[in-house]
Amino acid sequence: MALLLFKKLNNWLWNSKSTVSPAGKSEWEHVFVGIHNLQQRNRKRRKKLASVISRFREGSEALPDAVVVFHKRGDIIWCNRLAQFQLGFKWPDDSGENITNLIRNPLFFEHLKSQDYDQPLDLPSPINLDKILEFRVMPYAKNQRILIVRDVTSYRQLDEQRRQFVANVSHESRTPLTVLQGYIEILGMQSQEGTRQQKAITVLDEQTTRMCSLVDQLMTLSKIEGAPSIDLEDEVNAPALLKQIENEAQALGQKKQLHIKFAIEEGLTLLGDEMQLRSAMANLVYNAVNYTPNGGAVKVIWRRSNAGAYFCVMDNGDGIAPEHILHLTERFYRVDASRSRDTGGSGLGLAIVKHALSHYDSELNIESNLGEGSQFSFIIPNSYLL
Ligand code: ADP
Repeated sequence: MALLLFKKLNNWLWNSKSTVSPAGKSEWEHVFVGIHNLQQRNRKRRKKLASVISRFREGSEALPDAVVVFHKRGDIIWCNRLAQFQLGFKWPDDSGENITNLIRNPLFFEHLKSQDYDQPLDLPSPINLDKILEFRVMPYAKNQRILIVRDVTSYRQLDEQRRQFVANVSHESRTPLTVLQGYIEILGMQSQEGTRQQKAITVLDEQTTRMCSLVDQLMTLSKIEGAPSIDLEDEVNAPALLKQIENEAQALGQKKQLHIKFAIEEGLTLLGDEMQLRSAMANLVYNAVNYTPNGGAVKVIWRRSNAGAYFCVMDNGDGIAPEHILHLTERFYRVDASRSRDTGGSGLGLAIVKHALSHYDSELNIESNLGEGSQFSFIIPNSYLL
């Protein structure tokens, strides 16, 4: 009897398609029902899992972006239809293929290796070099990564058009402004002191000078924004550059009797673009001079540190309230517009600094206390040093 029931059970488990357990007797009946319940539970769990996976896939297919799930080693686990369309993946042929074999770009490889995924990466599409794709990697589940790819060609084109427009307008305004300045100077020489005409010419002169400085700043900003990545062939003699900036700062601060001190490490030169480095350093130094009241002190440091070349400008001037600090590098942001106007400021200086530093893989660090002074600093990484 027991042998018969055992055979029945064996046959049901291995050969039968029926989900209903065979009829048994006494304790065998109990075992049959137990196995049947276990199977039912597993079936339900599998169904639930399948529905979660299908919901995930449906959700990913509905996204307007390409989605790829891969193991942190690189093996592709799954991708949606847009990934096949935008990245040229073939599914299911590419399942298990290493993602770096399909997106063959050294920058993508470095990005994955860095494990620092805070910033997205813009790269040309692997199947159409005219398209720019934004790659965003995120850690996902255990030991997995999710890659979201978006076509940003039109945004980048729009950005470039905006930059070109600003560059053209500022370039075209420069010549008429220079002509105006020349005539104003001649009129100034011909007018008599104390007359209404002379006062009007002085105002004209001040305003055209402001316009010229604004146009120059706009031209510098669009030039830096549009510049390709730093050419590591050119050597920049930073100590010599800082000597020139020091002379200019001393001349600028003379009227206010500022104590300006430069502590420069000789021989600390680097590779890169002189114009961009000059813009970054000079803007910070001139700001310190402009926003420090009479008799104040400005100190500038350029020295080697563990992480690279350290540049710092400290002043004991007005200082900046904490709520403004995060916004300072935005274009045209000024804490006090009238105060900035008095110093000839346009609100573009720190935006220029930020962009120039981004080309050196560096960031501006700002520390300030209202009424006590400010400290603006950055580090140029060792890879740029000679
Ligand atoms: P601006 O041309 O107005 O100086 P910036 O972009 O260079 O524009 O600076 C933005 C604002 O940051 C300035 O308007 C000023 O209010 C503030 N700022 C910059 N540097 C200093 C400093 N060293 N001390 C106090 N405030 C500063």
